[in-house]
Amino acid sequence: MQLHNFNSGPSILPKEVLDQAAAAIHNFNNTGLSILEIGHRTTHFVDVVTEAQQIIKRLMGLGDDYEVLFLQGGATMQFMQVPMNLLDENGLAAICDNGVWGNKAVKEAKLFGPVAVVSDSTDQKHTYINKQLDLPKGTTYLHITTNNTVEGTQWHQYPQTSSLLIGDMSSDIFCRPTAFHQFDLIYAGAQKNMGAAGVTIVVVKKEILGKTNRPIPAILDYKKHIEAGSLLNTPPVFSIYVSLLTLRWIEAQGGLIEMGKRNNEKAALIYDTIDQLPAFYCPIAKEDRSIMNAVFFLTDPTREAAFLDLCKKEGMIGVKGYRTVGGIRVSMYNALPLSSVQTFCDLMKSFT
Ligand SMILES: *Cc1c(COP(=O)(O)O)cnc(C)c1O
Repeated sequence: MQLHNFNSGPSILPKEVLDQAAAAIHNFNNTGLSILEIGHRTTHFVDVVTEAQQIIKRLMGLGDDYEVLFLQGGATMQFMQVPMNLLDENGLAAICDNGVWGNKAVKEAKLFGPVAVVSDSTDQKHTYINKQLDLPKGTTYLHITTNNTVEGTQWHQYPQTSSLLIGDMSSDIFCRPTAFHQFDLIYAGAQKNMGAAGVTIVVVKKEILGKTNRPIPAILDYKKHIEAGSLLNTPPVFSIYVSLLTLRWIEAQGGLIEMGKRNNEKAALIYDTIDQLPAFYCPIAKEDRSIMNAVFFLTDPTREAAFLDLCKKEGMIGVKGYRTVGGIRVSMYNALPLSSVQTFCDLMKSFT
């Protein structure tokens, strides 16, 4: 049976990427060694890091005022590493709490200084994004989660702010042309749209660093990582390599314009189907719906288990909603073909 992988993360990767990664496990770039066996300071691997950094900057349209780092600890570590590096004694972090991940960013930032929650959508169970932001005086940075993976909302236009702008783009990085230049720091765990678990990319504008007096442990200091060319210690070699393969794939497919075209097409199909079928409904405000993660429900909740059973029987992987949200979540990252969404929509239509 053909499987359709709607996993929310780690998630589907292009078949070409898996084939190339598998080959490199045995023989990396004709070195006769596995990618798992090479030294991280050899030119072979330094070239991998350099090329991945170059492609990321090219896709983002960013220049030499930004640096690209490959770090560990997941996007979750960035919830504390960002305030640790950026928030000084007199500063304040303004954070949008539009779901599970933004909420964690709030909790961690509080360990380093005052935090103002400037967009809170808990009143409507995070089914929309409150975009009326009122930043307090003295705000050092505004932090947004560009795509709320769990709740199925996404910022389609970013807020204008005179403070720094920080984006957790873990679940929608490289999904379409994006105003990356609006951001001073962007981070993303690779395992949703960019590669394998184990590496987080951080893209940071150099001039914003070094402004806090707080002592920062070397391993958590962005400046130290920059000085070391993202090779401060042993990096997650294989994960970085899989990211490079995925980045090459994105460019070869036609870059972010092509990714956006495909993702918009998939999203339009799934939301149109949900909106047309009385057995399903999507509570997310239309203007905030995510093109990466469609979150929706059965009109009759007692039929949810039967629908999930049918999905399982038909090879639809990973479509059960997040445990605190329930319902259905269909994740449609870059590598998911339109045909998988079509097959899923046909299944929904057959479930009357
Ligand atoms: C998955 C996810 C995270 C957490 O990523 P980890 O790599 O597991 O730490 C954070 N933010 C968003 C938006 C996510 O989707």
